Amino acid sequence: MQLVGLKKPPLHGIYHALWSAADWLYPPNCSGCGKFGQRWCPACQAQVQIIQDPVCPQCGNPQPKAELCPSCRHTPPPYAGLRSWAAYREPVRHAIHQLKYAGDMGIAESFGNSLLSVLEKQNWNIECIVPVPLNPHRQMERGYNQSMLLALPLATALRLPLRPQALLRKRDTLSQTKLSAQERKQNLLGAFQAQAKYIRNQTVLLIDDVTTTGATLWACAQALLEAGAKSVYGLTLARSLLQADSPEIAVAA
Ligand SMILES: [Zn+2]
Ligand SMILES: [Zn+2]
Repeated sequence: MQLVGLKKPPLHGIYHALWSAADWLYPPNCSGCGKFGQRWCPACQAQVQIIQDPVCPQCGNPQPKAELCPSCRHTPPPYAGLRSWAAYREPVRHAIHQLKYAGDMGIAESFGNSLLSVLEKQNWNIECIVPVPLNPHRQMERGYNQSMLLALPLATALRLPLRPQALLRKRDTLSQTKLSAQERKQNLLGAFQAQAKYIRNQTVLLIDDVTTTGATLWACAQALLEAGAKSVYGLTLARSLLQADSPEIAVAA
């Protein structure tokens, strides 16, 4: 997407100004290390393991060469491309935990530019943005969807429609945390339903906070394509670069 030199539209400025005003009234602590004064401090930023090329052009996993990985060759994913900003490691992992479980919503706005920096490098002609939905239970408990908060600054910066209604979570799925990659896919089969009127013939960008095995984005992309989307891309803030059986990914959704 051609974003270089793009002037951020007024709505984006307003959204940013609202968060800056909130910071002025209630100065934040860093979501990575807890240090007082800013939402994301330079020391935490310096520790981020940003995912660098070369990656598999489809699933975005780091590779020795920019060519399809064995897994995408064997079973091509339904999404046309998936990318993530950083490895799911500290301090990003802590920040995502704060965003999901501690009501630390401002950090999603801070990461808007990080997500934009990934999109800048892709040749994707996105027409609308869809956040991955939570199951309704969890959404009620939490009061917000972290993927929606990550998608909002992107939609305002890119002047693209944000369509949270396009994807519904039909039923409660088992917690993904202790399942293998295959079990995750099975667990999510039929869990999402897309609403054709919001995405028909459109190129959709799906947004999520973390991807571990890609199973959630896989299921969402399948639902969107079945409902008539032209093509689907995925973008997440972080991704697990560890083996599926590592205890480190047990905290990822
Ligand atoms: Zn920090
Ligand atoms: Zn791949």
